Amino acid sequence: MSQETSPIIRLADYKPTPYAIDKVDLDFDLTPEATLVAATLAISPRAGTFGEPLVLNGDELTLVRVAIDGRDLSEDEYEASPSQLTIKVPPNGAFRLEMTTRLDPAANTKLMGLYRSSGTWCTQCEAEGFRRITYYYDRPDVLSVFTVKITAPKTEAPILLSNGNPVSSGDLDDGKHFAVWHDPWPKPSYLFALVAGDLDALEDDFTTMNGRKVKLAVYVEKGNAPKAAYAMDSLKRSMKWDEDVFGREYDLDVFNVVAVSDFNMGAMENKGLNVFNDKYVLADPEIATDADYAGIEAVIAHEYFHNWTGDRITCRDWFQLCLKEGLTVFRDQEFSSDMRSRAVKRISDARLLRSQQFPEDGGPLAHPVRPEQYKEINNFYTATVYEKGAEVIRMLKTLIGGDAFARGMDLYFSRHDGEAATIEQFIACFAEASGRDLEPFMVWYREAGTPIVTVEESWDEASHRFTLTLTQETPATPGQQTKKPRVIPVRFGLVGPDGGDMQPSGIAGAEVNGDTLILTQPSHTVTFEGLASRPVPSLFRGFSAPVKVRQSLSSADLIFLLANDTDSFNRWQAGTTLAMTALVKATQQVRAGQAPSFELAPIDALGSLLDDTALDAAFKALLIAVPSENDVAREVAENVDPDAVATAHQAYRRTIADRLGARLKAIVEADGAAAGQPYVPDAAGAGRRSLANTALDLLSITGSQEIMALVRRRFETATNMTDRMAALTILVHRGDAGAEAALASFFERFGNVPLVVDKWLSAQASAPLANTLDKVLALTQHPAFSFGNPNRVRALVGAFATSNPTQFGRADGKGFGFVSNIISRLDATNPQLAARLLVTFRSWRSYEPKRRAQAETALRSIQIKEQLSRDVADILERTLA
Ligand SMILES: [Zn+2]
Repeated sequence: MSQETSPIIRLADYKPTPYAIDKVDLDFDLTPEATLVAATLAISPRAGTFGEPLVLNGDELTLVRVAIDGRDLSEDEYEASPSQLTIKVPPNGAFRLEMTTRLDPAANTKLMGLYRSSGTWCTQCEAEGFRRITYYYDRPDVLSVFTVKITAPKTEAPILLSNGNPVSSGDLDDGKHFAVWHDPWPKPSYLFALVAGDLDALEDDFTTMNGRKVKLAVYVEKGNAPKAAYAMDSLKRSMKWDEDVFGREYDLDVFNVVAVSDFNMGAMENKGLNVFNDKYVLADPEIATDADYAGIEAVIAHEYFHNWTGDRITCRDWFQLCLKEGLTVFRDQEFSSDMRSRAVKRISDARLLRSQQFPEDGGPLAHPVRPEQYKEINNFYTATVYEKGAEVIRMLKTLIGGDAFARGMDLYFSRHDGEAATIEQFIACFAEASGRDLEPFMVWYREAGTPIVTVEESWDEASHRFTLTLTQETPATPGQQTKKPRVIPVRFGLVGPDGGDMQPSGIAGAEVNGDTLILTQPSHTVTFEGLASRPVPSLFRGFSAPVKVRQSLSSADLIFLLANDTDSFNRWQAGTTLAMTALVKATQQVRAGQAPSFELAPIDALGSLLDDTALDAAFKALLIAVPSENDVAREVAENVDPDAVATAHQAYRRTIADRLGARLKAIVEADGAAAGQPYVPDAAGAGRRSLANTALDLLSITGSQEIMALVRRRFETATNMTDRMAALTILVHRGDAGAEAALASFFERFGNVPLVVDKWLSAQASAPLANTLDKVLALTQHPAFSFGNPNRVRALVGAFATSNPTQFGRADGKGFGFVSNIISRLDATNPQLAARLLVTFRSWRSYEPKRRAQAETALRSIQIKEQLSRDVADILERTLA
């Protein structure tokens, strides 16, 4: 479909369907050539519906039969196209609609609906994949009780799974067998799932808070069951945590997770049958890094938590996507914080938000957390809906306090269980629980853009009064020129000379709730009385709001906070602000033809922190991690020359390596001494490895032979993937003489493990070297690469576009041209994947004029294609607008 013909869907146009679907029976006859789906829907008119036509969604469907109450319809009674089925005059009252459709799962390269992944039949229905299986009201507010019968060849698919509980199974003639599943909980079609294949299972069980025993299984490809152990462990911890923290108990007899290799997203929370990208299931120390383990824990938890926030209470329409996603991301963040280090998790989440969501909010694809219109809903599974959506929930909790938040959640669960709800209904629960008017808070859901809070301070020595003026402004975003002031919670401390927080005798000018100032107006002048001396203000502690802060603290103040703030997040933030200021200044120097120069005091302050035995290793690793080149480019914001950023970045890391070399070496050596211990993927071990590998990466920037020999040795002797991958990446990125040999030996060892091949591809695609594009082009022909597998495409092309700013942003435009060619090619087979890749161009207008022109040429080369998918056409139109 071309962009001209795709309609805009608007929140304001929401209407319930004229008919309800009370019950669904699905009968799948799976064969390799063609799959027949017989659907029987028990339909009843809603109140006020008189003889309205029944119009059901389809997508590339072939109708074989349609009948009502057992009678086949004649051709003048209905209209069927691949994308719609209309029953012109449905019966008055309840009736049974029977339909048979024929599918070709093997030819389904879009990976939406029913498709095959490595010989396994599987489904993905969110957001609009169910309509690729049968005609249906494929929208989240139509809830129904599903019974599913699956028939398949027994040798090819001994495992037959669907939602809910198993009812019956047995053998049939012709080598076939069947299974029947029944899900007692009414659900929308996007939560439907089916899996059939020859899979191994890792089995376990969990006893709920009320003593009900639940059978758990993680299904994986043959031979991989041991690699599912960490996923299973994460699942059991998630189930317990949701009982302890949110009082939520699991509600079926079984809970199944299936890992598949061809999957467009991370994972999917289908009721009782979660389907996962195998990246978020399979792990052992040989193949998975610490980050992979943390990712598995978080995604397993996220999908499990959806059982209540998403499945039991779902969204009324797709505009409310953040109702389930923002809330569930918040819940998985809290889970990971409880399992690991809360401070480290908070910093990681803030970094993710700034690197993924801030550029979205500041560019052509900006949209509110709860959008009010869309052309293609697949394009709204974004960092804004997910990560900013989670920040909005976190602010809500800060605003009304933990107790009122817990009461609000309980009210939401009890009031809306079994319903398809809206953001307004959700927020009303918290307004009721807290007694606070939350209408002003709704601006966070309705308006796009990242607010900028400017802070000015003054100190009156005579009256011992400290004054802060906080002014907020949100830049215009597409379609929203004027912005309302937001409710912004500012957690704060006034740090005294001894490093402790000073207590003012009075505060005026803004509502204060404990340690939180609540901004509601465009500007607040807040006075703090009775302070013995000028404090250093520590604002937005714990990243209390997803805003940009403009505050001109001196280097001395920032170094003081870095050393003394009692809030871990703001200690890290002070260090990051110092580094960012240095990097932006150095970039300007490079653009002006000067040699970059750096203040040494902030670097020495970092050195002192490395010596502090009270700080944990993971936190130290974050303190010395230099903001990425993409972070710097975002801060520079306009007229960006990625080569200048890279030169400044390199010079800054070199300065740290020279200044802190002895300390960094000691860290690496201490880690080497500990490396003989067995690998445990816990927070402490991960922190130690992260610190050592960050230190090694900094040291390697000097190119010293001694250091590079050490990196080669660590690569050869590594006992786990975290250290091996860190060393390989350094060798490849520095263009070391040993890089090719290391890549070859790595591939020889892991070439048959696709998830590890992804790491091998990414390390090469992200190398900041002039010959990288040629290598990436060659790798698209490598036997281990496939355009049909989303993980491979993301690992190679995605990594090139997102993690290689100088080569994607080459001055000759060839980096942009390469990625735009791939997008055009992929659009024909997998539009969702193509559209995600296209998003990597979202900041193209911030380049200097030459690169901006090159990027625009590449984007327009996609546009001149005649048959663009709705997914790509929508992103392209907005990106170029
Ligand atoms: Zn989710």
